[in-house]
Amino acid sequence: MSEQVLLKNIDNPSAHRIETYEASGGYQGLRTVLRNFAPDEVIEEVKSANLRGRGGAGFPTGLKWSFVPKDSPLPRYLCCNADEGEPGTFKDRILMERDPHQLIEGMIIAAYAIGCRTAYLYIRGEYGLSIEHCQQAIDEAHALGYLGPNILDSEHSLEIHIHKGAGAYICGEETALLESIEGRRGQPKLKPPFPAVAGLYECPTVVNNVETLACLPHLFSRGGEWFASIGPDHSPGPKLFCISGQVKRPGVYELPMGRTLGEMLEDYGGGALTGQFKAGIPGGVSAPMFPRSEFDIKMDFASLAEAGSMLGSAGIIGLDETASIPQVARRVTEFFNHESCGKCTPCREGLTWAAKILRRIEAGRGQRGDVEQLEMLCGGIFGKSFCALGDGAAWALGAALKHFRHEFDALIIPQSKAG
Ligand code: SF4
Repeated sequence: MSEQVLLKNIDNPSAHRIETYEASGGYQGLRTVLRNFAPDEVIEEVKSANLRGRGGAGFPTGLKWSFVPKDSPLPRYLCCNADEGEPGTFKDRILMERDPHQLIEGMIIAAYAIGCRTAYLYIRGEYGLSIEHCQQAIDEAHALGYLGPNILDSEHSLEIHIHKGAGAYICGEETALLESIEGRRGQPKLKPPFPAVAGLYECPTVVNNVETLACLPHLFSRGGEWFASIGPDHSPGPKLFCISGQVKRPGVYELPMGRTLGEMLEDYGGGALTGQFKAGIPGGVSAPMFPRSEFDIKMDFASLAEAGSMLGSAGIIGLDETASIPQVARRVTEFFNHESCGKCTPCREGLTWAAKILRRIEAGRGQRGDVEQLEMLCGGIFGKSFCALGDGAAWALGAALKHFRHEFDALIIPQSKAG
């Protein structure tokens, strides 16, 4: 087992309290930052450590911060995206429930780097214990001078407000999240302008994921070089993986990136519930699945992108030999169709149509040409949708059709012959 950084206190029942956090070295990263780093130097350190966003896209965090205009007279905002809605993903919940001060400390460091005095923590409304423990952590941090005016007698001041989501998956998309905080319907907005230039209330805004921010206290208490030395050069740092589906040991695992999908499912997930695995999904259901023959794919940003998938939210889902891929494809497509915000036609109409065809196939009433029509729909949605929800839905369905076409055909051909 590799060193546990983000999960090191996870089994301690009082890990969410500030006394426990401080006793295990908590808030030392913030003290180091305020003592030794100017805001620009924080950004440079995060860039040289090559911290990449843990929410889905893997975008370099320091680079994202550097897009915030330095000369803008407008207030700057930091929004933590804790709207963890991707099926198969539950790592941010563990961090917020069990060790929330890591996140609060990370938010204070990020806010210092970008010159922000007001930050929002957007937590999905279903995460009741996360909301409770994060609010308690904010109150405790306030009481000890880590939040509020002149933090630890520095020039840096910050208030953090929790905003509860209302259960819409699309609010995990950063511009929809900002709309939601402003009290509007959560729908993605056109980019550019990007949030770093015109985000919350049209002011410069950085949106970062929970795990990304939780890495910062460790990066600064132990140094950027230490951080960069963990895992592959292009995807360094501690990383959380959620393993679920038809596996014997589901859970959240902390490992450096670069293990194979097969290792993750067999060695950490404990193997298939029944027989062998048939397929594995590497990064939440938006990420295209791999058949067992391709389980040697490495679990890092670059390797998965090269192989036509993505690390995404690192929600790994194992599907064993009892799984029906047409059923999985139907359920995933129905999920995305339900969560589509309806703003653009390819996603709204295309997914409704695809879900209808998939229901027909699964029920044994598939018609000749249905698979070709699904492929045509994937081509009409992917790359033509307004945001990543449509793309992800079409990408995932396309991979199921590509690798397991025989399972779809098997549900169509007998009925068609009979007809
Ligand atoms: Fe809304 Fe779907 Fe279009 Fe995204 S792709 S804007 S979720 S309709």
